[in-house]
Amino acid sequence: MIGTLSLDRLRTDGEQFMEELSREYYLAHSGQKPTAELRPIYAKHEAIIGPDALALTLEAFKGASEGSEERRGAQLLLDWQAEAQSSRQLAALDEREIAWEVSTVVTVSDTRQIPFESVSIEIGNSSDANERHAIEEARAKVVARELSPMRRERFERERDITEQLDLAPNYISAFELLSGIPLLSLKAECEQFLRQTDSLWQEVFPEFTQRVLGMEPADVTRADALALFRARDFDAFFPSGRMESAIRGQVREMGIDPLAAGRITLDTSEREGKRARAFCSPVRVPNEVYLVLRPHGGQTDWMTFLHELGHALHFAYMRPDLAFEYRWLGDNSITEAYAMLFDHRIKDPGWLKRYTELGASRLPAFMRSTGFEELQFLRRYCAKLIYEVELYGGSVRWESLPDLYVELLTNATTFRYNRADAFVDVDPRFYAARYLRAWQLQALIAETLVERYDEDWWRNPRAGPWIASALFGEGQRELAHEQAQRVADKPLSFAPLVRAVERMLG
Ligand SMILES: [Zn+2]
Repeated sequence: MIGTLSLDRLRTDGEQFMEELSREYYLAHSGQKPTAELRPIYAKHEAIIGPDALALTLEAFKGASEGSEERRGAQLLLDWQAEAQSSRQLAALDEREIAWEVSTVVTVSDTRQIPFESVSIEIGNSSDANERHAIEEARAKVVARELSPMRRERFERERDITEQLDLAPNYISAFELLSGIPLLSLKAECEQFLRQTDSLWQEVFPEFTQRVLGMEPADVTRADALALFRARDFDAFFPSGRMESAIRGQVREMGIDPLAAGRITLDTSEREGKRARAFCSPVRVPNEVYLVLRPHGGQTDWMTFLHELGHALHFAYMRPDLAFEYRWLGDNSITEAYAMLFDHRIKDPGWLKRYTELGASRLPAFMRSTGFEELQFLRRYCAKLIYEVELYGGSVRWESLPDLYVELLTNATTFRYNRADAFVDVDPRFYAARYLRAWQLQALIAETLVERYDEDWWRNPRAGPWIASALFGEGQRELAHEQAQRVADKPLSFAPLVRAVERMLG
């Protein structure tokens, strides 16, 4: 009933809805409930995620004048509503896919079967290239036959649902309109970045495949990449027992309370059913934020903890008087940028010397390996975005997409990719674009912090309060490129990332 629906009710009930969903995910993923019961929550809040709510936000968006605060808010609400339309209609497909992932077993040989969910761990842990390739071949076979068609159907339907909203002539322009992200120019920047870093990549790649894997560049596949990036020569210098206290201590030195006066709860106890990977759940923003982890130790753990802490502090330091849409919705490039600003300390020599046990003598080798990893992930994400734009662009037939996927990802990373993953290695709704913009934004923010508070800004007691008010306090009101202009007076670009990678590779 459109009569009872207003933007204010959408905000009040929307916040209630988001809080209930977030609490349900938190309880399920932290092992306090066996499963997340989402359908009752969707049913209870049906009115604010239905077609009438979409029509209302569309009307508000069209009626607000360009550049006004009303328009800014309405755009975020409309993006949320448009996404809700497809999430609601695709829920059954998503459930089918999750059920497939937890129940499927990959048959490598007569005597060896591996649960689908453990395949990448098994590949990463194997030091035998033939074994890795055999597992990979078995995985690709079952993915191509069963998972890939499901995912393909999902992306086709999502495209159709979004196009039927009649916001724009096609999926890509609808995404640009809803998100405010200039997707096509980002794609051009990615192509430029790949060209610009190509000779650097060709130079460092053989060094790592030969030393870590004992393989020639021409022979390595995506399966070998899993093993390469799992080889953690430096894990001993990132002990689990010191992780939490070292990182909390650093945040305090920067002038920020790591628990935000009790608004953040660190859930670090062992509990059955708790996810292995750390995550952050904002249950009430900014007053009730959970950071859930099971410390195992090692470099990856420290990085994940820093990443999730960046998200948690962002949520906990948002100004409470910000509108619902600026606290709960908006451009996730912003929150991912703060998470990356924190996790990139693991690539900061001064930070490493002060808070880890790495020591000065091991630092040059560590920095070179971390620089290689950073460049690999950047090149992979650039290729992914280029591919995902083609996937939705309509100029390549879907039957030809697997060949294009292999060509783009293999050229960018040198690791040979598999046709089977052309619809599997895809993030819905161009989330790769959010990551790439976050990467660009965190690099600009880090440069600004060095200018304002010196190389060791992360222990400067004046830096934290500035970060908390000028960055975290704003929630996600701004788009990433707007924030870059306000904070650094520069446009978003790959330039500071290229500089950073060149510094790391020495
Ligand atoms: Zn994140």
